[in-house]
Amino acid sequence: MRNYLTKMKSGRYLLSSIRVEARFWLVLLIGFAVIVGISADSMIRLHSILIQDRQDEVRHLLESGYSVLTHFQQLELEGKLTRDQAQEAARSAVRDMHYGEHNYFFIWDLNGKSIAHGGNIHYEGRTFIGTPDSVQEPVVSYMVSQLLAVASSPQHEGYSRYQIPKAGSTVPLDKIAYSKLFVPWQWSIGTGAYVDDINTSFRNRVVTRARTVLILLILAGLVTYLIGNDVAAATRRLSRNVERIARGELDRDVPGVERADELGDMARAVLVLRDTSREVVELRHDPLTGLAMRKLLNDHLNLTRFQSARNGYYNGLILIDMDRFKLLNDTHGHDAGDLLLKEVARRLTHNTRKGDTVARLGGDEFVVIAVDLATDEATALRSLEHIGQKLVRVLGEVYQLGSISHVSHASIGITLFRDESMAGDELLKQADLALYKAKQDGRNTFRFFDPDLESKIRRRNQMERELHSAIAMGQMELHYQPQVDDRGNIIGAEALVRWRHPERGMISPAQFIPMAEETGLIVPIGEWVLEEACDQLVNWSQRPDMNHLVVAVNVSAKQMFDEQFVEKVRNIVLCSGANPAHLKLELTESVLVKNIGEVKAKMDQLKQFGMAFSLDDFGTGYASLTYLKQLPFDQIKMDGSFVVDVLKDERSAAIARLMIDLARVLKLEVVAEGIETVEQHACLRGMGCSIFQGYLFSKPVRPDMFFQHLDGFRQAGAAQG
Ligand code: C2E
Ligand code: MG
Ligand code: MG
Repeated sequence: MRNYLTKMKSGRYLLSSIRVEARFWLVLLIGFAVIVGISADSMIRLHSILIQDRQDEVRHLLESGYSVLTHFQQLELEGKLTRDQAQEAARSAVRDMHYGEHNYFFIWDLNGKSIAHGGNIHYEGRTFIGTPDSVQEPVVSYMVSQLLAVASSPQHEGYSRYQIPKAGSTVPLDKIAYSKLFVPWQWSIGTGAYVDDINTSFRNRVVTRARTVLILLILAGLVTYLIGNDVAAATRRLSRNVERIARGELDRDVPGVERADELGDMARAVLVLRDTSREVVELRHDPLTGLAMRKLLNDHLNLTRFQSARNGYYNGLILIDMDRFKLLNDTHGHDAGDLLLKEVARRLTHNTRKGDTVARLGGDEFVVIAVDLATDEATALRSLEHIGQKLVRVLGEVYQLGSISHVSHASIGITLFRDESMAGDELLKQADLALYKAKQDGRNTFRFFDPDLESKIRRRNQMERELHSAIAMGQMELHYQPQVDDRGNIIGAEALVRWRHPERGMISPAQFIPMAEETGLIVPIGEWVLEEACDQLVNWSQRPDMNHLVVAVNVSAKQMFDEQFVEKVRNIVLCSGANPAHLKLELTESVLVKNIGEVKAKMDQLKQFGMAFSLDDFGTGYASLTYLKQLPFDQIKMDGSFVVDVLKDERSAAIARLMIDLARVLKLEVVAEGIETVEQHACLRGMGCSIFQGYLFSKPVRPDMFFQHLDGFRQAGAAQG
């Protein structure tokens, strides 16, 4: 069975290796050969039947001649005739027996002498073979020799064939004779019939048959040519176009869709294929950069995984994120952003190898699959490191976006892979973790994925889940860090949130605030902080020695852009009964970059309500002065980094002095935060700074501890005063 199947398959293969047009001609040729074969066979059969009939006829007729001899011999035996009389009578009787147009009897004796001849009486008495004086007529001699051979055969009778002209002609023609030895007289009697008529009619039939076959063949050839040519031409056209479509010319027409036959079906299928390819291409390629998009990336990634499982080569998955892309979009518009993305795409394509895949995942996130790096891990890692360095370098070069010169850097996460064990999205996740690390390590760099990082991230995710329930579980605390004036009096406090985690202990806001911002949890946390601070203000307002304190609350971008921010703040303050004039909101630049108009509107409304604003971490951002110019701040907070450096380096000192002067000119308060030493305090005080905050005075503390510090300072202040 299997043998049969293989045979069938190889037969089908053989057939499909011949072109359709050639196949038509082959069928035609085989048909021709078969028809010719069958015709020839039937003609030959017919010919032999006709000859056979003629032979039977001759044999049958001979019997009548033979019976004449028997008759006269009988008369001799009865004594009615002598032998000579009997033989003479028989001769003349036989000579006169004719039938048909050319048929007669003849008698020869065994010496080759003609006894009687119905066709040519002149032969009679003459000898044609045997003796030296025999008549030299080769045609007749041959005939006689044939007849005598039959006579001397064991049966004494039989057929012979020879050629002899008809009477009155010289052209020898085929003749069949039947002869038999009349033993008593030793005479061979025979008769014959020409077969030329059979041959002629046979030839005519052959010619007619051949002509019919030829006409049929020409017709079949013509039809074959027309059908074959149509099919072959349509197939050629279709395959030419399919090839072009496959090469990406997706606006090609598909010829033959109007046909009703199978080729039409095929053409319509190709049309559907072309249209889906078009959709797929549109889905797979980013119209802006022309790079592959997620779907295509996944396909390539899977392909690379399967291939590398077979060829043993290591590959790299590289995830790239451009820094400050949002900022560029927000400040210079989307056109500039688009130009940057295009340029990044160009630099990536130019700096990777031909077989590598470069894709854009959306936003400013790009991916490169660097394939076939090496078969050993160390070499593969080295080349990935090389690629990472190169990409960081070229992506960090200045971008000329129209009239803008823009500086941007890339953070890059890389992971190495070789087989199918890791799914495509798991690999992407690994590269993403590495990218996260690159960002944490100061950006403008690349990092490899390592499993340790993964566990750190897992812990982070766990923390994120726990943060959700932290407020409800009462794990949030608000600590206060005093702010003192130049005479050492505490004039207020900054409220700083803390998370008292049941297992991890006190978690600093630097650890969980960014996470809270990412997840949006900062909104409920910020509200809790404000409520808590207001309650504290109300509490302090009831103490004459503390009712002057102003509490500063930090506000993050997410809160500020909450649509109901102003409403919520007002409600919280009003509900608590706190005096809005004793509340100050600290904004950092990250709040301001987005939509300065909206921020200004909200600040105006809250200022009307009685609250004040402070610009936090002043001097660390890119556009501090712009914000200062456009927004109604009451205070600036000089960032702790300037305070640290104020004694160490002159430039920082100059900048610090400038900030203080600027604040004076703009009629703003200036707070120096992060004061840790007496020297820093003295230096800044000397420059004209009037408000201070830092560990030198107090760390952020619980409100119940605040009293003790307050008392401590009052004593210190009194001593100074
Ligand atoms: P920030 O608003 O600039 O707060 C000042 C930070 O400096 C606080 O860190 C404070 O503990 C620290 N600090 C004060 N004096 C000194 C000093 O002498 N030396 C040093 N090295 N540090 C000092 P903290 O409490 O860890 O807060 C970090 C940041 O978290 C804050 O920076 C603020 O941006 C954010 N944050 C804290 N609480 C909240 C909050 O309730 N809401 C929001 N949105 N952000 C908050
Ligand atoms: Mg602050
Ligand atoms: Mg600050």
